[in-house]
Amino acid sequence: MLRIACPYCGRRAQAEFVFERALDAILPLDATPAAAVEHLFARDNPKGWSWELWRHTAGCGAWLRLHRHTVTHQIAAVETLGAPRQDAGG
Ligand SMILES: [Zn+2]
Repeated sequence: MLRIACPYCGRRAQAEFVFERALDAILPLDATPAAAVEHLFARDNPKGWSWELWRHTAGCGAWLRLHRHTVTHQIAAVETLGAPRQDAGG
């Protein structure tokens, strides 16, 4: 079972988190329509290490940047992207 170490809540089951997307799948704001189509639908999806955007939806609500191996699910880094919700119970 994949477990993710939230910097605010500690190590929790993956079921508490939502995978949002790989960071390289985030569309630049100034992309042309043709570049947006290419970026969203024709990008590589290689096996291996990937920087990903996750959210601790069943915990503190924090947005997290994970460096995760897509085959082994090993997590090399978890970084925060802002503070958790004020109403979070953890
Ligand atoms: Zn958390």
